[in-house]
Amino acid sequence: MQLTDLTITQAHQGLVKKEFSALELCKVYLDKIKESDREISAFLTINKDLVLSQAKKIDDLISAGKKLPILAGIPSAIKDNILVEGLKCTAGSKILENYIAPYNATVIKKLKEADCVILGKTNLDEFAMGSSTENSAFGPTRNPHDLSRVPGGSSGGSAAAVAGNLCVYALGSDTGGSIRLPASFCGVVGLKPTYGAVSRYGLIAFASSLDQIGPITKTVEDCKIVFDAIKGKDPLDSTSLEKFVSVKKLKIKELKIGVPKEYFVKGIDPEIEKVIKEAIKKYEGVGASIEEVSLPHTEYALPAYYIINPSEASANLARYDGIKYGLSIREGKDLMDVYLKSKEKGFGEEVRRRIMLGTYALSAGYYEAYYLRAQKVRTLVKNDFEKVFKKVDALLTPVSPFLPFKIGERIEDPLSMYLVDVYTVSINLVGLPALSLPCGRVGNLPVGLQIIGRPFEENKILEIGQAFEKTYARA
Ligand code: GLN
Repeated sequence: MQLTDLTITQAHQGLVKKEFSALELCKVYLDKIKESDREISAFLTINKDLVLSQAKKIDDLISAGKKLPILAGIPSAIKDNILVEGLKCTAGSKILENYIAPYNATVIKKLKEADCVILGKTNLDEFAMGSSTENSAFGPTRNPHDLSRVPGGSSGGSAAAVAGNLCVYALGSDTGGSIRLPASFCGVVGLKPTYGAVSRYGLIAFASSLDQIGPITKTVEDCKIVFDAIKGKDPLDSTSLEKFVSVKKLKIKELKIGVPKEYFVKGIDPEIEKVIKEAIKKYEGVGASIEEVSLPHTEYALPAYYIINPSEASANLARYDGIKYGLSIREGKDLMDVYLKSKEKGFGEEVRRRIMLGTYALSAGYYEAYYLRAQKVRTLVKNDFEKVFKKVDALLTPVSPFLPFKIGERIEDPLSMYLVDVYTVSINLVGLPALSLPCGRVGNLPVGLQIIGRPFEENKILEIGQAFEKTYARA
């Protein structure tokens, strides 16, 4: 087995048993990035000098016989909308092209306390707006399984880095599917935690009532390790909570799983449907009881999301004015010219589209018809989930109705891009936890299964995922 194939647990054991040093491990990854990232383009920034000094520190700890935290010395990658002090944080945008993060996000502070090694920052759709990573101002990332295809988005750089063995694990952010979709497209594991389970402090805000940071890993076990390291209440994020439900050893035979019928209607690729149905059968085969359930407002979730998301985004992005920080075009006759020119040069097409949609939906006279109505739909969607979770422990669905598509295939048509998110956005509207797990392939393209749980029952969906992973090989 090569060093770049290792999971967190395997790499940790190798370090503890002194089979290799942290420095060797990190150098192998830096070399691998040099060799493969020219094609994949997962990284925007590489943190070479710091990586080597961090690795040396871990080796000193090992030689001193200190107990090593499980993430110590394990090479990771961080989506470039999460602040790492002293490194550039671009959010995939020209407007932040030269912005250096002045502090650490809480998740980074926690990882650093666990002696993590950060290899670098990964590519994303500009301000995390997109489903393919093609909206990055710095060019697209490619899917390691097929370089002509997208890795999914917006955390495409993070997922491609894990799938391409350019790091052991990565962090992404998920506002409407941006961890789960790229995990599915790249054949790796991704967790979107319950809203509030992980601090958003230091995450560049996109749509604040929907955003969550979460892990992207090679296995469910690794996903749990990273989630445990980053979760918890943070005084710097008033929406964060410490409220985890611990699960007694999961007994598959006592498990009730719901399959929402609205997720298997016209529009889904029949080959994906087949792979997902087979995965569901496998759960049935090991004794789980499977029940068809209904989430009747599913069809309204996507349109409601595409009102609420741009509304919040338009408010959050007002701060990039060419004055406070980021790109500043000091031309023209007055301050208004600086605002306009900086935004025009700094923001890409999708970002401008969202700002316009959001500003429109929030404006006087339209607010009630759009934003308020969308929030009412959100409540209906939430009620649907609350009702089914009285009967079942978890839900199984596809992550995406489509296989990883070709670069350029959808980018000209925003509505067809938005459709990619049809199975993921409800989860963010309601704030639930959901895991994306590789469950099979169509040709050489991976297919992801989505496991949705009750609020703060991450442990349960992770165990349900592990049950699948233990019995069946990774896609
Ligand atoms: N694709 C969705 C959007 O563009 C989700 C993005 C995300 O989760 N960051 O809004």
